[in-house]
Amino acid sequence: MKLVQCWDDGVSSDVRLVSLLRRHGARATFNLNAGLHARERQFGWHHLGTEVWRLGRDELREVYRGFSVANHTLTHPHLEQMPIEAATREIREGRAQLQELFDQPVRGFVYPFGTFNDAVAQAVRDAGHACARSTHSAPAGVDTIDAMAAAPSCHFLAPDFWQRFDRARPTGVFWFWGHSHELVDEAMWTAFEASLARLCAEPGAQWCDPTELFDGDSP
Ligand SMILES: [Zn+2]
Repeated sequence: MKLVQCWDDGVSSDVRLVSLLRRHGARATFNLNAGLHARERQFGWHHLGTEVWRLGRDELREVYRGFSVANHTLTHPHLEQMPIEAATREIREGRAQLQELFDQPVRGFVYPFGTFNDAVAQAVRDAGHACARSTHSAPAGVDTIDAMAAAPSCHFLAPDFWQRFDRARPTGVFWFWGHSHELVDEAMWTAFEASLARLCAEPGAQWCDPTELFDGDSP
């Protein structure tokens, strides 16, 4: 079974997450907004009483070494609520800056807030992306029929995470997403590590980047 995990927004708790992922030999994709990282770490917002900080621009390459990065636009706007010219700039400039920063092709995309319309999806495709993910969970386990409107299996904190895993099994792909800052206490980190270990132990488990689901035959 192909396993896909992606983590959004480039927050400082990704440092702990990547070390955990490395320990388990799990691949992951990080969806970043190239325009929102100052040189140094910067306070972003509060989540359930904890401070969320964005990583510094200068540390991004080192933090995500060995992992895939994908485009989450330049500054995380609601793309469908802005003129298409401005949305296109957000999409193209976000990709260009990530490619320069990481010195690797960036072919994955994630819609900020999971929202988009046909014109936005077309702009994402035209900018050179192979796939684009929403935040909408696919009822049938995973939905990769339309590469520009891919629906993952679920958020990593979904209460029915393992039921959704079972539902996704016949599709051959299980795809979850989230933000590492949602792991707000030690119990949550421990629970996530246990889930990760269980996924890694699945017979035939193979961690993939989302773009690999769309190269050649879709599952
Ligand atoms: Zn986001």
